[in-house]
Amino acid sequence: MAKVFCIANQKGGVGKTTTAVNLAAGLAMAKQRVLLVDLDPQGNATMGCGIDKRSVKHTVYQVLVGMVGVAEATVRAEGEFDVLAANRELAGAEVEMVEFEDREIKLREAILEVDDQYDFILIDCPPALSLLTLNALCCANGVVIPMQCEYYAMEGLVSLNKAINDINSKTGENIQISAILRTMFDPRARLTREVSEELQKYFPNELCSTVIPRNIKLAEAPSSGKPGLFYDPTAKGTVAYLALAGEVISKFEKDSMVA
Ligand code: ATP
Ligand code: MG
Repeated sequence: MAKVFCIANQKGGVGKTTTAVNLAAGLAMAKQRVLLVDLDPQGNATMGCGIDKRSVKHTVYQVLVGMVGVAEATVRAEGEFDVLAANRELAGAEVEMVEFEDREIKLREAILEVDDQYDFILIDCPPALSLLTLNALCCANGVVIPMQCEYYAMEGLVSLNKAINDINSKTGENIQISAILRTMFDPRARLTREVSEELQKYFPNELCSTVIPRNIKLAEAPSSGKPGLFYDPTAKGTVAYLALAGEVISKFEKDSMVA
């Protein structure tokens, strides 16, 4: 069974998609079988993997509304991992799904079909606690939260934690924060160090020891439709995401995960 992680933070621009794409590539490089699900109508993860969101044949939208199965809808990315693509069409899914029974578990039902074909399934969430994010949370073994060490970051983390607890008590799920990842990290900034200390104190088990530095190569890579690994394999940011992949494998490979 695959370990399913959703990469979520309701705050925008914190590095969710960059983490999803580069972690997928890093895990695949380490010979893990990986599926990356783009669950954001912006389609940034899709484009960042070199797949044209405007011309892709099948998308996660079609999967959610039951038109096509996951296996049929996935596309192979450079770097030997599979991608379930997204584009603007996905924005309509939320409206259509309101009518559905069990609308929060549509992605889970779909993913169950391919669960045994992967070691890791990563879901890139939109920057909102929407029905799409709820679908991602309900099929995940754990949540990976990328965050910048900024003033409002802890507040955002507390509200995300509360939202997860609310979902758990309403649905009987047992969704947990698996990892908190410091992104765009600048150790010279005093605020960064202070927020980092708070994270160490309150989330000692969840906080990843790998930190992702601010690195221009990571920001440039999507314009070439490649993960950092294929854009600049020696860049500091690329190396950090490879280290993160190693950390994730050693932390979760033997873990008994919560279903
Ligand atoms: P959204 O909430 O809109 O989905 P996001 O959380 O997915 O955003 P990204 O798209 O990954 O965030 O990153 C936001 C911007 O910051 C992008 O332009 C990305 O290229 C850049 N970026 C991400 N991580 C880094 C980094 N470590 N160093 C430099 N730039 C980065
Ligand atoms: Mg994103």
